[in-house]
Formats: sequence, C-alpha cells, structure tokens
Amino acid sequence: MAATGSATIRAVPPTTFRGGEILGIRIPTVFEENDGKVCGGCGQPIEGTPFRISLLDTVAAEVPDSWARRARLNPGPHQFHADPACFHAWARARDILICRLSQVREIMRPVAIPGPAARWGVCDGVHREAHEFVNA
Ligand SMILES: [Zn+2]
Ligand SMILES: [Zn+2]
Repeated sequence: MAATGSATIRAVPPTTFRGGEILGIRIPTVFEENDGKVCGGCGQPIEGTPFRISLLDTVAAEVPDSWARRARLNPGPHQFHADPACFHAWARARDILICRLSQVREIMRPVAIPGPAARWGVCDGVHREAHEFVNA
C-alpha cells in the first residue's frame, strides 16, 4: 500500500507538450480551447458550434481580379455567437454598415459604399429593394 500514493514522474518533451500534466501538476491547456472558437463580436468563447458568417461577393466572383483588388474585407468565415448583436458589434468595430433590410445570415455580401471614403456595407442580398445601409 506504500506505493499507492507515490508520485509518478513522466518526462514530457517540450516539443510535444500540448497541455495536460507535468510532474503531477495539471496544466490548464490553452490548446484545447480552440482559439478559433472565440466570438468575433464580443470576444467571448463560443460554446458548441459557432455561427459562421462568410462575406462573399457572388457577383464579383465572376471577375476575381477586380474582387481581389477591391477586397478590403476578410471573407472569413468569421465566427460568432448565434446572436445578431455579436455580428453587429463586429461590423461596428470595423466601421462596416449593415443593410437594415438584411437578416444576419451565414453568407453576407460585401457592398462598396459610394463616397469619398472607402467604406463597406454588408447585406444578405435577399431583398429586391435598394439597400438601406445603416450603422451596425
Ligand atoms: Zn458574441
Ligand atoms: Zn440590402
């Protein structure tokens, strides 16, 4: 029974260390917390499956060179909580307008806002009316 409580010492090469235990001391790993599962809007960890939003210009896909030169938005996919407020916060932080006729969907289309300053709006592109871009 004397051996029951003795500590087990394991050699853990640093090159392969991915969290876990060193000399019996538990190391809370940051590797298991996939840092891709942090909400792009509020910065909080996402439990379960994140809501992914891609910014894809379906029209400009026919002219990739033009799209590449004009692309100022990371097409993503960006990950958020399943709450439109988180996507709005993300857009607001980047000075991106959101069309108020649009829902927050998994695929949003970037739309260049005419004007002296380069600015973008996003819309789901579902409605037929003219876009009505407003601050996120
Ligand atoms: Zn969030
Ligand atoms: Zn719109």
